[in-house]
Amino acid sequence: MSNRLFNFCAGPAALPEAVLKQAQAELLDWQGKGLSVMEMSHRSEEFTQVAETAEQDLRDLLGVPDNYKVLFLQGGASQQFAQIPLNFMAEGGSADYIDTGIWSAKAIEEAQRFGHVNVAASAKGYDYFAIPGQNEWQLSDDAAYVHYTPNETIGGLEYGWIPEVGDKPLIADVSSTILSRPLEVSKFGMLYAGAQKNIGPSGLVVVIVREDLLGNARASCPTMLDYSVAAKNGSMYNTPPTFGWYLAGLIFKWVKEQGGLEAMERLNQTKQRTLYKAIDSSELYSNPINPVDRSWMNIPFRLADDRLDKPFLAGAEERGLLNLKGHRSVGGMRASIYNAVGQDAVDALVAYMAEFERQRG
Ligand code: PMP
Repeated sequence: MSNRLFNFCAGPAALPEAVLKQAQAELLDWQGKGLSVMEMSHRSEEFTQVAETAEQDLRDLLGVPDNYKVLFLQGGASQQFAQIPLNFMAEGGSADYIDTGIWSAKAIEEAQRFGHVNVAASAKGYDYFAIPGQNEWQLSDDAAYVHYTPNETIGGLEYGWIPEVGDKPLIADVSSTILSRPLEVSKFGMLYAGAQKNIGPSGLVVVIVREDLLGNARASCPTMLDYSVAAKNGSMYNTPPTFGWYLAGLIFKWVKEQGGLEAMERLNQTKQRTLYKAIDSSELYSNPINPVDRSWMNIPFRLADDRLDKPFLAGAEERGLLNLKGHRSVGGMRASIYNAVGQDAVDALVAYMAEFERQRG
């Protein structure tokens, strides 16, 4: 019997139990080699197999075209906020960014250290409750690229569409939405994702970048931050986060076993519908996001009276529903329902929400 509870954490987030069990079973002795993955040389035949299989499985899942490199890097998604301008924006250059909330704002703030950022559209005018349509975007001619955040993990906003930006490279922070459903990689110049939601443990960041964009980093770009160096060295210019890479590989296999991204999409579609329906049909709970811009992965909701937050959270914890407290910057509640959080978890949450409302009603 497992005593694992339902974990709605935004990240590091729940991982599939089957994957954790496999990692546990292999921890001391990986495939009869007499040592753990953590203890092997990253250049060994064994780890090379782990690394290559993980990359191939991710390529298969997303249908990554051959002219894209897949990199397994360090420093989380936040380091990408600097790495992107250092690699793609010339000294004195500029780039277009779309502001839809806290994560896109962090990307903007960091990019401003390296050049001019044109905020081509902002959700501020909608109190960050809706995504500005592309007809409102003011893209600039001299932008080196266009950056946006397809899913705002804190605000709970998600694009149901991919922007059209002509021949400008489109760069997307898919940290909290990657692998939740199929994605047309060829529409992007680059995608990046911190691992600790749908991919694996924190610290690792996966970058998928079109090859023709590589090789233009600024002269001042640190070697470790130059994508072309990482690409040339198979993400092993230095010692990569081997255990995280291995765990990501186990997750990719697990997603394949679930039926791939089409199957994940069906499961996630039902999960989010269940939860939004519970919120929308209640008198006590509310979610302010424009319905077509609602996130599938991160669902913030408020109780009609803030004073109920504490008892709600205490009752949730008693029932084994963990980490429902909203981000400190917005308050309220947030349920993150990534791939490893099943329909059973969502059903348990919805049942508790109804019970709590009845008791207060
Ligand atoms: N972007 C998004 C959309 C995120 O959700 C997060 C983490 N929650 C980050 C960036 C930052 O990731 P990291 O902590 O790995 O740097």
